[in-house]
Amino acid sequence: MSLVVIGSVAFDALETPFGKTDKIIGGAATYISLSASYSLKPVKLVAVVGDDFPQSDILLLEEHGVDVEGLQVKPGEKSFFWSGIYSKDLNSRETLVTELNVLADFDPILPDSYQDCKYLMLGNLAPQVQRLVIQRLVNRPKLIVMDTMNFWMDIALDDLIATIEMVDVLSINDEEARQLSGEYSLVKAARKILDMGPKYLIIKKGEHGALLFHAQKQKLKIFYAPALPLEEVFDPTGAGDTFAGGFIGHLAATDDISFDNMKRAVIHGSAMASFCVEKFGTERLLNLKPEEIEAREKQFADLVEVVPATAVQNV
Ligand code: AMP
Repeated sequence: MSLVVIGSVAFDALETPFGKTDKIIGGAATYISLSASYSLKPVKLVAVVGDDFPQSDILLLEEHGVDVEGLQVKPGEKSFFWSGIYSKDLNSRETLVTELNVLADFDPILPDSYQDCKYLMLGNLAPQVQRLVIQRLVNRPKLIVMDTMNFWMDIALDDLIATIEMVDVLSINDEEARQLSGEYSLVKAARKILDMGPKYLIIKKGEHGALLFHAQKQKLKIFYAPALPLEEVFDPTGAGDTFAGGFIGHLAATDDISFDNMKRAVIHGSAMASFCVEKFGTERLLNLKPEEIEAREKQFADLVEVVPATAVQNV
């Protein structure tokens, strides 16, 4: 099933307690596309870079089954650049630099071959650009998933709310859910955000897993997926995007958007994210084997498999 991904393709400079990188390939759409490519190919990418972006990195994406017909290369301009530093426990990070460069006036062009889009992933980007992509598709996709971040809540809240209204699934982290809703309780936050339009909400909680919410009439359905307790975490950058890529990749590959299949997609996305954090940047996502992914998903299933105590007690 045709999957289109839009988002940043970037240079990142990262610092974690385990080391520092110079400019390496990053960006929301990079992580999403690589992650989704393990579920289906091609992944049709819509993004923009400057002519400082190495051809070898574009080739790398192509080698992973990413269709780059929708990737614009702007002569004489610089690619988006983001730099961040993580706290000792890796649970928080500070953005040091956000240079929008080519993203500042990004006009997303959708090649004709992308018009068959059935699954649309709106990766982190200015919300008015995300909305333009929806408007430029002749037919509304079967499922639109959107990811965003506090940066856009701070500078483009009205646009953000207008875009959220148009999507089926919104994926944000717990801090962002609280900021967007003004509620501390994540359940109250979920109700408020679902009232804004999306049918489903994913709240990512980093090393504490992810929650999937779906409002059915007055009833709130909730599914929780843990994060795998990992012995070593090197770099959480891109974990949320990798999660989102795995999530929509699984839904698109199976062409099934039932709540049960969304639960599987959350587990698959969590498994993909658990690989991402094991190395710097996109490195760990470049050479995954299907058996590794399968084994990791099994670890997730084992982690939460339990018969309730009351079911085995003789009362
Ligand atoms: P995550 O760790 O999932 O939040 O994603 C990190 C990626 O998001 C990095 O590779 C950055 O290049 C990208 N990024 C950071 N800030 C922005 C922004 N304002 N717009 C688009 N992409 C961004």
